[in-house]
Amino acid sequence: MQTRVDVTPDQIATLQTLATGGVSTNESSLDQHGHDESAFTPVQPSVVVWPCTTQEVSAVLSFCNQERIPVVAFGAGTSLEGHVVPIYGGVSLDLTQMNRIIEVRPDDLLVRVETGVQRKALNEKLSKDGLFFSVDPGADATLGGMAATGAAGTTTVRYGSMRENVMALTAVLADGTVIHTGRQTRKLSAGYDLTRLLVGSEGTLAVITELTLRVFGIPEKMAAAVVRFPTLADGVNAATAIVRSGIAVARCEFLDAKCIGFINAFDHLTLTELPTIFFEFHGSPQGVEEDAQSVKEIVHEFGGSEFEWTTQEEGRRKLWQARHNSHWATLAAFPGMKGVSTDMAVPLSKLAEAVAVVDVMLASHPFPYTVLGHVADGNFHSQIITDPNKPEQLIEIRHLVHEMTMKIIEMGGTCTGEHGIGAGKISALVAETGKEAVAVMRAIKSVLDPHSILNPGKIFTL
Ligand SMILES: Cc1cc2nc3c(=O)[nH]c(=O)nc-3n(C[C@H](O)[C@H](O)[C@H](O)COP(=O)(O)OP(=O)(O)OC[C@H]3O[C@@H](n4cnc5c(N)ncnc54)[C@H](O)[C@@H]3O)c2cc1C
Repeated sequence: MQTRVDVTPDQIATLQTLATGGVSTNESSLDQHGHDESAFTPVQPSVVVWPCTTQEVSAVLSFCNQERIPVVAFGAGTSLEGHVVPIYGGVSLDLTQMNRIIEVRPDDLLVRVETGVQRKALNEKLSKDGLFFSVDPGADATLGGMAATGAAGTTTVRYGSMRENVMALTAVLADGTVIHTGRQTRKLSAGYDLTRLLVGSEGTLAVITELTLRVFGIPEKMAAAVVRFPTLADGVNAATAIVRSGIAVARCEFLDAKCIGFINAFDHLTLTELPTIFFEFHGSPQGVEEDAQSVKEIVHEFGGSEFEWTTQEEGRRKLWQARHNSHWATLAAFPGMKGVSTDMAVPLSKLAEAVAVVDVMLASHPFPYTVLGHVADGNFHSQIITDPNKPEQLIEIRHLVHEMTMKIIEMGGTCTGEHGIGAGKISALVAETGKEAVAVMRAIKSVLDPHSILNPGKIFTL
């Protein structure tokens, strides 16, 4: 399958009988399902289909497989590497109507959800039982989309990413076969780990319809702290020293001075415009105090100043809301512009060098940018601003990001800590893992999806 596949009226009529949530070919639905939050050129699907159950997903996939129609699973559409762009047309399979929280099991610290549940809705429900789900990408993504991209967030340093927090799942293969992977147990050693094969598979191997997720008790005490540093390098070195010291910070997020300026304007804050780390501590009242004190001493050694901390719920929420809004805050500072987000990760010992290298490369180009990241995980992003009316800028930025990525791979890092490969990092994946490893991935794909109907053109070219 190498060219666009347009779905015929007869095929659409059949799809209508298979999905009770509806089918649409109206322009606004096609537009909405033709792009994600990246600067990738949108491509409309031929039709959007809303299934409501695993059985309906199975029926739709079985039919599309038989008719060789591409199918792109669609959650909240917040991914950042062109993941949901239906390059070859076909069906956009919108899973948002599968949004039931099936059961909360506080005694087992787990929850079962349908794939289209969004992370904020889940946390609202869990909070009634004193629980929370920890993975928190900046957008209000669906749990299915988060599993499919192997998402992470600000609390990954303490609680892990989707890879650690998906215990089991139900998925539908390209031919309509329904499989169940994993168990609701804390430990498991039974056969190949199909759960983790599907987590991060970006809708190219199967469509996930149900997830069993690990949840945590809301900590007795939570405190947030803000520290400023004279330079980017000081902040990054402080963050890595804190991780090495073994202090169990719950969050440790770095933002450069420009980013602080943008979130001040967007979220009506008055933070000093210097390189800054936001911290969060979870535990008993005494444990939180002790962790904060130890962190205060370490940051002091790296020139950190104005260690402000709060245990007030409102101040803490406001701070993290602003951190989560940083993408939108940067875009708001450049009306009409688009952002290209990078997503690199390196071993902790290389973090300061990697951030410095990337900063120098970015500064040698005319585009405004910010640097921020989940520094305690060795994972950092830059957001580069581009004018959508000047396509030549996007070409230059893509070239720059590729050069930066190659440099990071040379340093032992990865082209993506959490966003995934999508359509944007196909060549970087080969550079990172080698063509032999990519050949193994292709072989797995060809067994599970022999006609390449599932999100074709993502992770590798056809
Ligand atoms: C402001 C902002 C901040 C962000 N911050 C972070 C961050 O901190 N960490 C992070 O990891 N990401 C982040 N992201 C990226 C994005 O939110 C994540 O990639 C998220 O996991 C995507 O979820 P979604 O529901 O939007 O999926 P979509 O964008 O709809 O889909 C993503 C991919 O998953 C596939 N897919 C979707 N649902 C399923 C399913 N049920 N079965 C199989 N495949 C499926 C799609 O085909 C596609 O390939 C951010 C994005 C934005 C816009």
